[in-house]
Amino acid sequence: MTTVGILGGGQLARMLALAGAPLGLRFLVLDPAADACAGQVAPLQVGGFADPAALEAFAAEVDVATFDFENVPAEAAQRLAERVPVYPDPRALAVAQDRLAEKRLFRELGIPVPAFAAVDSREGLERALDEVGVPCILKTRRLGYDGKGQFRIRQRGDADAAWAALGAQAGTVGLILEAFVPFDGEISVVAVRGRDGGFRAWPVTCNWHVDGVLSASLAPAPVDAALAEAAVAHARRLAGHLDYVGVFALELFHRDGRLLANEMAPRVHNSGHWTIEGAETSQFENHLRAVLGLPLGSTAMRGHACMLNWVGQMPGAVPVLAEAGGHWHDYGKQARAGRKVGHATLRADDAQALAAALERVGQALDRTEQVAPAVAALRAL
Ligand code: ATP
Ligand code: MG
Ligand code: MG
Repeated sequence: MTTVGILGGGQLARMLALAGAPLGLRFLVLDPAADACAGQVAPLQVGGFADPAALEAFAAEVDVATFDFENVPAEAAQRLAERVPVYPDPRALAVAQDRLAEKRLFRELGIPVPAFAAVDSREGLERALDEVGVPCILKTRRLGYDGKGQFRIRQRGDADAAWAALGAQAGTVGLILEAFVPFDGEISVVAVRGRDGGFRAWPVTCNWHVDGVLSASLAPAPVDAALAEAAVAHARRLAGHLDYVGVFALELFHRDGRLLANEMAPRVHNSGHWTIEGAETSQFENHLRAVLGLPLGSTAMRGHACMLNWVGQMPGAVPVLAEAGGHWHDYGKQARAGRKVGHATLRADDAQALAAALERVGQALDRTEQVAPAVAALRAL
């Protein structure tokens, strides 16, 4: 029996383990937290990623390793790679962990990006502001997720406040200043690349964020076919360049029919959760197939799917379960403000049927604002 090791024991590891069971796989999850939610469905080793003894013990138990967490120290991933095959390759992880390296690579590959500049001092911030202009966003280069480690600069006078918030991190994780994009919408390409270089993308997904956290995803994205194709072509080029193996997401903004890449996530992605019930093969299953060198499954979908993230606490499941295409995912995590604790996916063959189901669920769960953007997008089809 093959044992897949997963660094990080959050909901992504949990859904990987659930998808791997029918493939006859065993799992071992490494996480510093004894209550990591993947531990409810797979064996958990409690240990730090940077702890050589923990990594050694982990490596001894697994046949192949992957990540549920993109901020695993690159050196730890490298050390592990000396013992067992690790996918994606730690070099791809290193690029995706650093917003500056990532944006430079996008540009090198001809993938358009918003204006950006590295910032390493208070004076450097002024120079970057001259270059990038306002409005803009100061972000930590590393370790940010769910919009954490970001400060929005609306006018030059906000620079002091931005520096007070993030300046201390200039010398540690580094900072980058990015032009603020007044986007028409956000989309992501969730795609998989196999060990043999085979590439497949799921239909492009449209995403809505609230306070920097993903709130809802709709697939297929209601955008121009040419725009979606261009986004997938960017993702394909990026994956080929990195010799990437596994699932990844490329997040992009679009404005006036043009794309600007935001970031890549070197792992299964929240905007691909709808693939569990909405696609022929889920992102979780295809990630495992890729990592194991198995044939990739079809990424085709039928109809329309919308995922709603539950952030902070779980609502009641019944209104979703009462829908013909309603599916529920409770990650078994403790409720905490801002924390992703679960999601629901609604699927329907027909766009208007999905809009109606979303409206019913939004009403019943008092989440009309959360469903509104997807409902409006579906109604306009
Ligand atoms: P994730 O959880 O997706 O990894 P993150 O913390 O890495 O998030 P980003 O994806 O960079 O952060 O930003 C989160 C959200 O904030 C974006 O999806 C977008 O809604 C908004 N945002 C980020 N950068 C910009 C920008 N340059 N212009 C406009 N909006 C932005
Ligand atoms: Mg990110
Ligand atoms: Mg993002």
